[in-house]
Amino acid sequence: MKSLLFSRFLLLLPWVLIVIIVLDIDSSRAPLPALAPRGGSRPAAARAPPSRRPEAALPTIYAITPTYSRPVQKAELTRLANTFRQVARLHWILVEDAAARSELVSRFVAGAGLPCTHLHVPTPRRYKRPGLPRATEQRNAGLAWLRQRHQHLPLPQPGVLFFADDDNTYSLELFQEMRTTRKVSVWPVGLVGGRRYERPVVENGKVVGWYTGWRADRPFAIDMAGFAVSLQVILSHPKAVFKRRGSQPGMQESDFLKQITTVEELEPKANNCTKVLVWHTRTEKVNLANEPKYHLDTVNIEI
Ligand code: UDP
Ligand code: MN
Repeated sequence: MKSLLFSRFLLLLPWVLIVIIVLDIDSSRAPLPALAPRGGSRPAAARAPPSRRPEAALPTIYAITPTYSRPVQKAELTRLANTFRQVARLHWILVEDAAARSELVSRFVAGAGLPCTHLHVPTPRRYKRPGLPRATEQRNAGLAWLRQRHQHLPLPQPGVLFFADDDNTYSLELFQEMRTTRKVSVWPVGLVGGRRYERPVVENGKVVGWYTGWRADRPFAIDMAGFAVSLQVILSHPKAVFKRRGSQPGMQESDFLKQITTVEELEPKANNCTKVLVWHTRTEKVNLANEPKYHLDTVNIEI
């Protein structure tokens, strides 16, 4: 009797195992939550097919970030990646201010867990002076890459570009707002221009002026973090770039926007420019007063 039961059990065992395996495969195909981390880190088997992915229809957000070597660089990039990783269809264009790609940033990009293009271009020495605009060459390198990538496509995929400095603070809501940019969209920026915030002044859904504490006479009195441009506009104005020549300090944004749009055309975001969703935070210079002149530790640690 016992041996009969045992042989029955042995017969059934493979079938039970098959059922368990099938159930397990099925549960791993469950739809993904909207804000789940995306990008390179998720195994291919767990991804829904592109047609079923709700994010497939979304315009890609291209974030151009100039960055340069300093003690806080990796900390800044880590904060930024932690934000960007939560945004669907975001492509990070990281441009190093350097003659070559650094090992630190290359390693960082490889483990960042989001789609990323790593470029580099050095700022000429004569432009590395206080009072001169920063990161002009790096933003232009990002623009050139974007244009080159879409050059041969008759109908470029929908996309939105914005300039994301590595030390600012970005809310996730900002990305929802900029995603619907048709040409050029604008919004307030916190902690900038010597005020709590600066913002475009909006009347009847149109930008009619600027609330700013500094040079209100600028045609577009706005910070780099305060606008986004559709990919279509970037491609249809192939010569629009950030200029060194003739550009006064603090006029970079205005000079660039003048080449691609008019104030009347601007699309106000963030509840008619009444909400701050990005902050022009600046990291204080670190105190390395006690750092030894020569390497004293027994290990070499990247910070
Ligand atoms: N940056 C750069 N090279 C430099 C100085 C700055 O690539 O020599 C980058 C920096 O990492 C940041 C952006 O340019 O992403 C703006 O620089 P910063 O934050 O110093 O400017 P501010 O906050 O004064 O506008
Ligand atoms: Mn900054």
